[in-house]
Amino acid sequence: MKLSKSQREVIAQKYGGKCAYCGCELGKSFHADHIEPVRRNWWENTVMHPERETLENYNPSCASCNIQKNSYTLDQFRENIKQFVNSLNQYSTQYKFAKRYGLIKETEIEVKFYFETL
Ligand SMILES: [Zn+2]
Repeated sequence: MKLSKSQREVIAQKYGGKCAYCGCELGKSFHADHIEPVRRNWWENTVMHPERETLENYNPSCASCNIQKNSYTLDQFRENIKQFVNSLNQYSTQYKFAKRYGLIKETEIEVKFYFETL
């Protein structure tokens, strides 16, 4: 769905100009994320869920959250973020080192998206 300038502005202001996921301030080049993914097939120029191409199904997102969310659902995105700590503990020597020296403290908090805190 090609969004008009006014539709993009509605999406940008959905959470006061902040990323729906991490809550950072959005610039002019924010991404309009499909909350429920449409899953594009770029080679065939088709979408698997065209019924999800509605204004209500868009969240304003910073580039990094949108790229990380990819075509995940909210629950899959949340689980993906939770797994980062496991990956860091498994593969990052610097992370493990910083943790050993008390610079990093892990918590058991649930991943909450910014829009869920409002
Ligand atoms: Zn973000």
